[in-house]
Formats: sequence, C-alpha cells, structure tokens
Amino acid sequence: MPIYDREAECMEREELAQLQLERLQATLHRVYKNVKFYKKRFDALGFLPEDCQSLEDLARLPFTTRHDLAASYPYEMFAVPLREVVRIHSSTGSPGNPIVMGYTCRDLRTWAKLAARVLTAAGVDRDDVVQVTLAYGLMTSAFGLHYGVELLGASVIPTGPGGTARQVQIMRDYRTSVLISTPGYALVIADALEALGVDPKTLHLKVGLMAGEPWTEAQRAEIEARLLLTAYDNYALSEAMGPGMAGECEHRQGMHLNEDHFYPEVVDPATGAPLPPGELGELVLTTLSREATPLIRFRTGDLTRLDFRPCPCGRTLARLGRIAGRADQVVVVKGINIFPERVGQILAQMVGEDPVYQLVIGREGALDYLEVRLEVREGVFFDKMTAQREFLQKLTTKLAQGIGVTPRVKLVEPHSIDRRRETSPLVIDLRP
Ligand SMILES: [Zn+2]
Repeated sequence: MPIYDREAECMEREELAQLQLERLQATLHRVYKNVKFYKKRFDALGFLPEDCQSLEDLARLPFTTRHDLAASYPYEMFAVPLREVVRIHSSTGSPGNPIVMGYTCRDLRTWAKLAARVLTAAGVDRDDVVQVTLAYGLMTSAFGLHYGVELLGASVIPTGPGGTARQVQIMRDYRTSVLISTPGYALVIADALEALGVDPKTLHLKVGLMAGEPWTEAQRAEIEARLLLTAYDNYALSEAMGPGMAGECEHRQGMHLNEDHFYPEVVDPATGAPLPPGELGELVLTTLSREATPLIRFRTGDLTRLDFRPCPCGRTLARLGRIAGRADQVVVVKGINIFPERVGQILAQMVGEDPVYQLVIGREGALDYLEVRLEVREGVFFDKMTAQREFLQKLTTKLAQGIGVTPRVKLVEPHSIDRRRETSPLVIDLRP
C-alpha cells in the first residue's frame, strides 16, 4: 500500500524525537510570547521556554483543559494576530462558552497534508470518488478530510449529512468508491439501500472512513457486511486540529498518530501521572506545528493506549488504540480505576456481539463493591443451575483479571437495561 509522506511517516524514532523536541521548543517560545494564559502559567512555575531541554521536560508543565479554552473565549488563546487567521471553527464544548479554534494558511495546508496521509493509509487514491456525509459547519468534522481528498487528487462529493435517499442515488449514479461518515450513519445508509431495493453489489464502494462517534468491532463487521467495503477508524480532535490526526493503515491494529505534529502522552485520568506505553489512560496532546491556536498538554478526555511497536506497514508512527470511552466516565473502586468500556470489551469476548450491561458501585460498611449487570439475550436461558453457576464463575474470573477488581456479576432479564442509556446510565454510583 502506498504511503503519502514516506519521509515523515517512516522516520527513525530517534530522528522523530529530535524533530519533536525542536518543534516543541519553538511552540513553547511562541505561546510564551503571544498567549497570556500560557505566559501566566509558565511564570507561576518559574519556567522559561528555554528550560525545555528534552521531551521529558514537557511533563513539568500543567495541563490545558476544555474549561481553560472556554474561559479564553473568543480569541484569548490565539497565538497570532487575527489578520493572519484565515479560518475559524468552534465546538460547543462544555456548557457555557464555545471553544474557538483558528487556522492560519499554513495550519490549513498542514491539515490537508495530514488528512491526505490518513486517507492514503486507508487505500484512497486519486482515482477515487469520495462522498463526505459529515456535517459542513462550525465543527471541524467534514472539512479536514474534504481538503485531504482534494490534495490527493481524488474527487470529493460534499453531500453533508441527511437526505438519505438522495445520498444513495448519488452513491449509485456518481459511482462513489469511498464513504466518509459516522458509523451510525453508515448503518442508516445500509437500511436505506435495503428499503430502496438497491443491491450493494451494484455499487462501487471500496472503503469507508468512519469518524465522529465511538464504535465497536461488531459495528465494523456489520458495516462491512452490509455495504461491502473495508471500514477504517480514524481519530479527530477539533481542539487540536480536526480529522486527519490519526488513522488506521491496512493492518487495522490501531491508528497511526501523526506524531511529528502532535506529541502524545497517556496519563492516569484520576492523578494525571504519566503511564507507561501500552497502558490504558487519558490521551494528552501537545500540538507541535499549530500556528493560530497551539495547545500545551491538552487533556482530550479520550481513553486509549499508545503502541510504539513497529507496524508491518513500515510506518514508525505510534498507534492509538481504539478509543475506549471518556475519561470522565472512569470510576474508582477500591482505589483502582475502572473503565466501563473495558468491562464491555471483556463481556463482548465472553458473550459475543455488543453486550448490554450496567455497572453499579456501592459501599457496604467501609468497603466498596462493584456489581456488573449483564442482560441475558432473549431465548438464552439456563435450564441447569450448574451451567449458570459455571458461566457466572468464568465471567467473574475473566473480569477480575481484566479490571483488577472482583465484581459481583448479576444476570438480568432481556430489555431491563435501556440500550440508548436514556433511562439506564452506564454507571450508577450509590456511594455516599
Ligand atoms: Zn501500520
């Protein structure tokens, strides 16, 4: 498979670290000089940009949060004068002020190049016809990949979301070969094909780039089976740039992060302490080339792990694991971080498909307990008590090994947990 920027994507790790350090130093100088927020922070620590002599020195600096960005509304975080900004995006972010991101000409050029890397890794080339069903608006969602497609020389059809019957017609008549959508919308399109009596074999779909919401391997398999394409995961964070930051290669074992532009750390979401490579934690990113709105140690809130092992594709860029949920959903039981999504992954291995489950945390005396409620599928029942006991025991052991706390596992009736989580939150914490 071709690699868009072989020099950058296959760079020796040592050379990459040197490039990261140089770009980090330049970024620290820029924010210290131009962004009051960072100057105040660095001054409070007695830290000068020239004190950063190695990549490890970055950990001496405090995190930047979404709250900090919202409090800087609208332009306080900009590191360049407004006349150098050629595009403005914003996200709704937390309740309160939106978060505003600016882009200089160079930022936009970099964005398109990085998006082209991600598209190429998924097998998109200049002969493709790419239908972008993500929203074109204030959010960054559709734009990053759109300009990446143009840079590659492929054809882009900017349909935006909705109007599914028309999407299908365009897909068929314009011979769309690449679909860019949310995983949920890909399935809506699959439903529409069925309803309209369009056989996916008569379409030209080859690749799907899924973004915008968390999804599972089970969803990937369903999308691939129903649309007859290969579905790739990619990672986007509006605050740092937008789509094009990381994406899967043909081996689909994690998303190669464009580390020459984003420096990653994974930290314990509860304490903020850095975690060793491979451990699940919260992703923290520092931008290394952004001119308009650079970020230092930004807490993304996304739970993932970093894989620095070489990939058979030849890229040396580290891979982000599938986003395993949000850091604000982490619960601490008996002093151990429990990731609800991790529980879901273990249950999926045991019962197959997407398990419907809920975590209940409570306290008895001075001790915390964790109860995992798992919905039994319709038609599945245990006619023998021993079979049920064995299943529960196996499940409990697997969970204890996987999360570090031995839970009580309780099987509940079909449809007793609301799958859409409107009436059944994923986690119920009963502790005082
Ligand atoms: Zn790879």
